[in-house]
Amino acid sequence: MHAVGIVAAAGSGLRLGADLPKALVPLSGRPLVCWAVDTLRAGGVAQVVVAVPAAEREAFAAVLGSGVILVDGGANRTASVRAALAAADRGADAVLVHDAARPLTPPDVVARVLTALGEGAAAVVPVLPVVDTVVTVDDEGMLTGAVPRTSLRRVQTPQGFDRGTLVAAYAALAHDEELTDDASVVRAAGVPVTTVAGDERAAKITVAHDLAMAELQVPA
Ligand code: C5P
Repeated sequence: MHAVGIVAAAGSGLRLGADLPKALVPLSGRPLVCWAVDTLRAGGVAQVVVAVPAAEREAFAAVLGSGVILVDGGANRTASVRAALAAADRGADAVLVHDAARPLTPPDVVARVLTALGEGAAAVVPVLPVVDTVVTVDDEGMLTGAVPRTSLRRVQTPQGFDRGTLVAAYAALAHDEELTDDASVVRAAGVPVTTVAGDERAAKITVAHDLAMAELQVPA
């Protein structure tokens, strides 16, 4: 199967408290985006397209080299992935969309997603169970109920898609619509989404604590 990878790397470092784009923040001395690109390649992805903040293109080119395609990202993740998808190889069978903010995702997760696509799934997401009790609260913060967690899952990336299915789903989505992941885009188009096992190491880096935890988990 010929798969292209998309790395969404156009976010800011605001919640991380960084003074540079989050994807350029170093983990064990290497920018997060480099880790994410390496994971996709190690898992079996041929071409990689990276959506970056338009004003930072040169900085990203400097750390990523010429082996990837860079595109200007958009105002939100949905717009960034839309832009990268337009630049991805039209001859590919599959597209895997990955967050730069998940640098330590093991290549095994990529391989599991590719395997499920190879077995005929149109859309695949890696998921993990929810271990905490999940509750709802009212405006005053008073507990109003509990959500049974047995059917809840945390969704990670890379998320894999039949290329034509993902392109059609993005084409059907209103241009100003913003969704938090790509499975939501294909779900909105009525496409069934398969799950495979995720991995705790694929956790997303959002705040400084997440980065500190990731530093402790960098493989030797
Ligand atoms: O902000 P959040 O951590 O949810 O972003 C998830 C991923 O989407 C990150 O890797 C980030 O770089 C990317 N993103 C993007 N374009 C944006 C905003 C976020 O590619 N405009």
